[in-house]
Amino acid sequence: MTAMTMTACTGRQAETNAVSPDTGFNYVVDQFADLEILRYQVPGFESLSLRQKQLLYHLSEAALMGRDIFFDQNGRYNLAVRRTLEAIYTSYDGDREDPQFKALEVYLKRVWFSSGIHHHYALDKFVPGFTPDFFKECVMKVDAAKLPLRDNQSVEQFVEELSPVLFDPKVMPKRSVQGGTADLIQASSNNYYGGGISQAEVEDFYTRMKEGQDTIRPISYGLNSRLVKENGKAVEKVWKVGGLYSAAIEKIVEQLELALPFAENEAQKAIISKLIEYYRTGDLKTFDAYSILWVEDTASEVDFVNGFIETYGDPLGMKASWESTVNFINKEATKRTKVISENAQWFEDHSPVDKRFKKEQVKGVSAKVITVTMLGGDCYPATPIGINLPNADWIRRDHGSKSVTIENITEAYDKASQGNGFNEEFVWSDTERDAIKRYGFLTDNLHTDLHECLGHGSGKLLDNTDPGALKENSSTLEETRADLFGLYYLADPKLVELGLLPDGDAYKAEYYKYIMNGLMTQLVRIELGKDVEEAHMRNRQLIAKWVYEKGKADNVIELKKRDGKTYVVVNDYPRLRTLFGELLAEIQRVKSEGDYEAGKRLVEDYAVKIDPELHAEVLERYAKLDLAPYKGFVNPVMREVKDANGTVTDIVLDYTEGYVEQMLRYGRDYSYLPTYND
Ligand code: ZN
Repeated sequence: MTAMTMTACTGRQAETNAVSPDTGFNYVVDQFADLEILRYQVPGFESLSLRQKQLLYHLSEAALMGRDIFFDQNGRYNLAVRRTLEAIYTSYDGDREDPQFKALEVYLKRVWFSSGIHHHYALDKFVPGFTPDFFKECVMKVDAAKLPLRDNQSVEQFVEELSPVLFDPKVMPKRSVQGGTADLIQASSNNYYGGGISQAEVEDFYTRMKEGQDTIRPISYGLNSRLVKENGKAVEKVWKVGGLYSAAIEKIVEQLELALPFAENEAQKAIISKLIEYYRTGDLKTFDAYSILWVEDTASEVDFVNGFIETYGDPLGMKASWESTVNFINKEATKRTKVISENAQWFEDHSPVDKRFKKEQVKGVSAKVITVTMLGGDCYPATPIGINLPNADWIRRDHGSKSVTIENITEAYDKASQGNGFNEEFVWSDTERDAIKRYGFLTDNLHTDLHECLGHGSGKLLDNTDPGALKENSSTLEETRADLFGLYYLADPKLVELGLLPDGDAYKAEYYKYIMNGLMTQLVRIELGKDVEEAHMRNRQLIAKWVYEKGKADNVIELKKRDGKTYVVVNDYPRLRTLFGELLAEIQRVKSEGDYEAGKRLVEDYAVKIDPELHAEVLERYAKLDLAPYKGFVNPVMREVKDANGTVTDIVLDYTEGYVEQMLRYGRDYSYLPTYND
């Protein structure tokens, strides 16, 4: 169901001040807390036609217009916190080197990065390094007209209201609680639900809504609304023009309308028009119609995603966060994904899953490699490296899906990570290191291609299976399925035969990295004592731990000690592939049959818990490298060039903007929502 991946980005750590030796392009922008900010290039932009550039320009503007929506979805105080901190940051006249102010600056940078007060990955509230007293002192000094006060609210009252949101660990502790508690909705502090509504009431509301509806082509119930309890009744507040978030959505629509005249063809014109209609009506049937038009357009070179798409942020997997990416095709690299999609049926037929769960006919898997020009909402600054949409299972079944690998992003990761000492510290020997150096970039990209282009699109549900049957584990299990499909086929001789891999050993680089990451190195992203939470991280640990356990008797994978340090050693690569195949067959069965209990057991037994001793060791070794485990990107600045008559003669990109400058500019120029959206 959910369909984004960051499969290859963990474990690729960027070096500070990494400047490309060939171009002089500076990939690293900033580093703070556990975050590193990189910059991506947009190769090929200059040679596009003016018309395509203008289309990209307006779609890119539309990508920035919804920024506030995502902040508000993540928590109802996020816009208040951001606006207050920005007001302090820009007007502060004290010592900017003061440790209290420095801590406030880091906190604000983190709020920008996470689009809110919770960690973008761990989802828990981060702890300010400055005191409530310092905060109060700063707020009192700001011109009250610049503060997001409620009507008739004094500045003191405002501080009273906001302080616990920042400082009290018991207030809004976690953006989204994914399991292990009585009421997931009430435990989560995101803004997808409101008015004290309970999980049971939410489930009841949507069960009733689904009654008697089309089960063959079900609409994505609840996707574009907040569900609140008002006067004892559950009410949906739809995100649309004239509804909730109207002010930002109107701006998105305005830019989409400006983009229309530059559409490359009639099909693309129809797509943009349908999206506008959907934003105006909020009708989810229109959204499905739009998704079908979008997935069937494979001719346009410029493409984009703009809408309420991914449901990772909702513990029940219904409400979608707002996001946007704008891109154009990378024709050279797309030759690779073309070969994969042309052979999609072969891969489906030869997969190790039960015949009952296979698609007899794989529908239009279209895959391409793209170059992004703008990231927005839930794709900014942290961004996926591959996307496969649409998410609705029935549209994928009847109309196929569109799958992309974002190569200017993977390239930035790769360039920024060269020579940072990470592989020297964690990889067992030169044999594995050399393999990674030689094949790593290729096999990483290929794994992403296979994950997106074949993995998510493979398999089918049995006729009576409810697509929502796996509930809170659906994201984790879906990512597990797609990753396994890719891993299984990376080692297939077919890939060498198709010319996608140079030889039969190349896959070992990705296998080694995957297991090392899943068993050990991805733990650098988690605080000691905590569990694995995020769906992609859970999926990787699930796979790595499962094959480790099942291969124990035959010593397939070992955790070896050397000089007191733990390393992953893979002893039997062919057998490892067989184990990937066995787990893939089981996960596909779980999905196809909607076996909630079995899925839950897999997640609980393998994906969540961490060995505290190993965790502490990995964190200590990692700390010595002085690297940041999470990366995000600043966008290029895109500008219209006009002649004396005001006619646009070109669109140009500028890569010099810093992280703080960009965030402050976005806060100034792309912020349309009221502070409180009730
Ligand atoms: Zn995925």
